[in-house]
Amino acid sequence: MVDSEEDRENAACHCAPPQPDSGKAESEREKRYRERMQRKKEVIDSAIARADQNKGLLLILTGNGKGKSSSAFGMIARALGHGMRVGVAQFIKSRKDTGEEAFFQHQENVIWHVLGEGFTWDTQDLARDSETAQRGWAIVQAMLRDPTLDLIVLDELTYPIKFGWLDLTMVLNDLKNRPPMQHVVITGRAAPDALCEAADTVTEMRDIKHAYRAGIQAQKGIDL
Ligand code: ATP
Ligand code: MG
Repeated sequence: MVDSEEDRENAACHCAPPQPDSGKAESEREKRYRERMQRKKEVIDSAIARADQNKGLLLILTGNGKGKSSSAFGMIARALGHGMRVGVAQFIKSRKDTGEEAFFQHQENVIWHVLGEGFTWDTQDLARDSETAQRGWAIVQAMLRDPTLDLIVLDELTYPIKFGWLDLTMVLNDLKNRPPMQHVVITGRAAPDALCEAADTVTEMRDIKHAYRAGIQAQKGIDL
């Protein structure tokens, strides 16, 4: 991906080492600072002027690093702050003790579904798991047809697709036919290429370090 002018401008910003405190050096630094900020303002203003479309977005948060689901929950908080209505479907083996579910489930503008209940990771029964996923997707389909829902979060959706429980073409088709102003956020590792191609915004969380690997348990408020 080619860096934008703004990325290049940001990359060019260094923490300047302390300078001798002479008036001349100071005014030279101020001049350079003003010029740099002026350039930055021009780049940002022209990008804002170019962005004149308004539409429901499809966002994918993928990769092996931490932050996919919590980023999606951050967008839910933002949307609720604007009085928007939100639908959530979590495609995971049910965990009843997450802070996000405890908090958001009771918000009046949130519909929260945990759809992982019944997935049989242990028995590896494809037919049964597919059936569970299909039943879950039927609930998502209803949300994707409801124009009163402004934001839909499909948490960990990449897994039922990856395991073959849900058909990718069907998922893409339902996403495509949703109400035009409805935003959808999909999280999960290894998002399929076709899903990323269909998306407006795709972010890959990179795993640099994770506390879990140092033997630290999942922490309330951070991991769940
Ligand atoms: P979060 O919900 O914290 O935003 P996530 O959605 O990006 O995390 P998941 O793959 O859904 O990541 O993993 C959920 C749990 O696994 C969380 O407790 C998270 O801290 C932990 N986790 C995320 N990334 C890693 C990693 N690279 N190694 C180990 N555990 C991880
Ligand atoms: Mg997650």
